[in-house]
Amino acid sequence: MKRIYNFSAGPAVLPEAVLKQAAEEMLDYKGSGMSVMEMSHRSKTYQQIIDEAEADLRTLLDIPSNYKVLFLQGGGTTQFAMVPMNLSKNKTADYIITGHWAQKAYDEAKIYGDPKIIASSKDKMFSYIPDVSDLPINPDADYVYMCDNNTIYGTKFKSYPNTKGKILVNDASSSFLSEPMDVTKFGLIWAGAQKNVGPAGVVICIIREDLLQNEVLPFTPTLLQYKIHAENGSMYNTPPAYGIYVCGLVFKWLISNGGLPAIKKYNETKAAILYDYLDQSKLFKGTVEKNSRSLMNVCFRTEDEAVNEQFIKLAKAAGFDNLKGHRTTGGMRASIYNAMPMEGVQALVDFMKKFEQEHGH
Ligand SMILES: *Cc1c(COP(=O)(O)O)cnc(C)c1O
Repeated sequence: MKRIYNFSAGPAVLPEAVLKQAAEEMLDYKGSGMSVMEMSHRSKTYQQIIDEAEADLRTLLDIPSNYKVLFLQGGGTTQFAMVPMNLSKNKTADYIITGHWAQKAYDEAKIYGDPKIIASSKDKMFSYIPDVSDLPINPDADYVYMCDNNTIYGTKFKSYPNTKGKILVNDASSSFLSEPMDVTKFGLIWAGAQKNVGPAGVVICIIREDLLQNEVLPFTPTLLQYKIHAENGSMYNTPPAYGIYVCGLVFKWLISNGGLPAIKKYNETKAAILYDYLDQSKLFKGTVEKNSRSLMNVCFRTEDEAVNEQFIKLAKAAGFDNLKGHRTTGGMRASIYNAMPMEGVQALVDFMKKFEQEHGH
């Protein structure tokens, strides 16, 4: 068995200790004689798995008791529809467009109402986070929508928008559990698990209880109502049971490694290895404004697309996989989520230095 350094943006690297534990428990989960995959979600054993996952997540993020934690399915993309279906009153909301995923959310919201764009960084290829300290919030807006970390462009909000009293909704998919987060600033935080937390398909929603009282839009499917899931402990139907179990193992891994303050420090040190190198390299350049840089997705390029391609090819052969940037941006992207070890980033930088030398710099 040989594991490589996997810089995929998602589905992405998971902690090796978690994968090993899942493997050990695969055939016989704690003496039950069966895999979690084969287990009734109504069994006592599974109830304990999901309860512990929720309790551990609450510990990690210090989630107040007036917020519900939901483990749903449909990935991140289903939330683009669930948000307007469940939170609309006036059928208009304010969107901050900082990249591909916020744009998708906005486009989906147009099916259900008349959302507005109140800020955007499209003018510079989403290479920065716009000033959100004094936005033209619409008086009728049902909520303000943001995407915390822009997976494709490699930017991250460093402070949260002033919503002037409106509910803030945050797609935190690619920064979730990479650092502490003040849950009380948001009405709803949601995160697709596949970026930093677990298998694709699972999506975690943290929603303030009073928002569950809002009347959903007519024709909202039962399965797309937060309230239904909250009332049924995320088990209105069969949940993505195995995926939730793996998320739970990741939560325990985070807790045993010092929780979110510790992982934040680790992530900062890790990202600095790469950014510091990029800042002095004559061949590779970071593509994002310094004060908007993501700790999770590091985008960079050379000026020559043929050199980029050659670099990606040689890197892959040397055991650094999935460094190709998103098809819409070109260049390179190294996703260095929680589970990417420091050594992986150091090894990548060593490889980049060698490549740079060989290219006459
Ligand atoms: C990946 C991603 C999504 C979409 O998630 P799916 O699970 O593919 O539906 C949404 N938002 C962000 C920020 C993402 O990185």
